[in-house]
Amino acid sequence: MGSFQWPEDFRACMCLTWDMDGESAMYFRNPEEAKNQLSELVQRSYGPNVGIYKILDLLEKYGIPGTFYVPGYTANIHPEAVREIVSRRHPVGLHGYMHETMDRLSESDEKRMFDLSIGSIRRFIGSTPTLFRSPSFELNRRTPGLLLDSGVLSDSSLMGDDHPYFMKVGDRKLLEIPVQWTLDDFEFWGHTKSNRQKPIADIVSTFRMWKGELQSLYSIGGCFVLTMHPFVSGRSVYLEAVERLIKLGLETPGLWIASMKEVTEYCIKNRDEPFMVTRDLPAVEPLSFDL
Ligand SMILES: [Zn+2]
Repeated sequence: MGSFQWPEDFRACMCLTWDMDGESAMYFRNPEEAKNQLSELVQRSYGPNVGIYKILDLLEKYGIPGTFYVPGYTANIHPEAVREIVSRRHPVGLHGYMHETMDRLSESDEKRMFDLSIGSIRRFIGSTPTLFRSPSFELNRRTPGLLLDSGVLSDSSLMGDDHPYFMKVGDRKLLEIPVQWTLDDFEFWGHTKSNRQKPIADIVSTFRMWKGELQSLYSIGGCFVLTMHPFVSGRSVYLEAVERLIKLGLETPGLWIASMKEVTEYCIKNRDEPFMVTRDLPAVEPLSFDL
């Protein structure tokens, strides 16, 4: 199998992405606690109220694109934040309506979730959203087909390769731009009332790990997709680590710092090229073999 090919003379790719969850995940996960609990809701509102503007300024300082996945509910209650993302010309993708995890939805609820979230985001971007990341990186077997039915072109929630690839969905294909847990700020720095057992990682060691991931993926021509949250790494000290990573990316020769929209468009255009891998989904039940 040949190695993945990036456009022009680029050798690898870096995508900086933020899931602007806002308060939504708390309402979905802990609806009863949310009724009489203020602290975590306020902590999460830091993202669309404060963190997002610092992130947008940082991207502007270096003239690079980010990508923002926003739950429909968050877009509805924080319209200024989404308008600001759009006015700075960064793509906005889908991220559920109330940050629903797909493994907990019935088929009809999942379809309704897509209708609501697409309607919310469309109001801001003026067209049907084409990018999707599932809340908590959770998909069920229906989701890829529903995404294609909804006009979505790429998902970014699964961990099946080091670079973008297509997933076979019946006789159709959905582009996957893979993520990984080691490249998610919440895993290191996320610490909320309902996640108090999670230790807060040291910033220097986290940066070192991300630098290692970037250098390693670069060496194999891969795609480094960093998943962040404005209420986590929108705080200044964490944003400094992100800035160091941006500087490292800009100093790396042949590294394409791209939005997920740019990567999606490039991959769709080259979907039939030999370097573009198409994979089957794992079997529903274990296959049996005659030995
Ligand atoms: Zn999220």
